[in-house]
Amino acid sequence: MREARDRDRRRAKVDAEKSHSRIGTKHAAEREHVPRIREPNPECAICGRPIPLIAEAISEGDGRYSHFDCVLSRIKEEYNVQPNEKVSYIGRGSFAVVAKNPDGGFYFRERIEYEGAQAYSEMKKFVESTKE
Ligand SMILES: [Zn+2]
Repeated sequence: MREARDRDRRRAKVDAEKSHSRIGTKHAAEREHVPRIREPNPECAICGRPIPLIAEAISEGDGRYSHFDCVLSRIKEEYNVQPNEKVSYIGRGSFAVVAKNPDGGFYFRERIEYEGAQAYSEMKKFVESTKE
């Protein structure tokens, strides 16, 4: 008799925990819908095709944007990048032409400040402003 009552109490406790976790799940699902990013799709200044993700685009410094890959191709042409060299994004809107030393080490043959610090912060502001 006493055992049965304990079992009921235990079951009631489990039910309470279950319903609590259901509420938690619902909240998590609602949270997923809140931070929406509404992004216009500007055209790439280099190839003219739309840019799907502005956060991954490179600023031209004049309000226009280009695909990351288009900028890489442009740099390869403008800086006469050789097959044994490569172009790397080194952060803050800058690229580098990476070349190999005769001893096998790598060095930056060229540093290209593509976006510039000002354009970089402008892009960050623009991306922030598209968040609702
Ligand atoms: Zn492009």
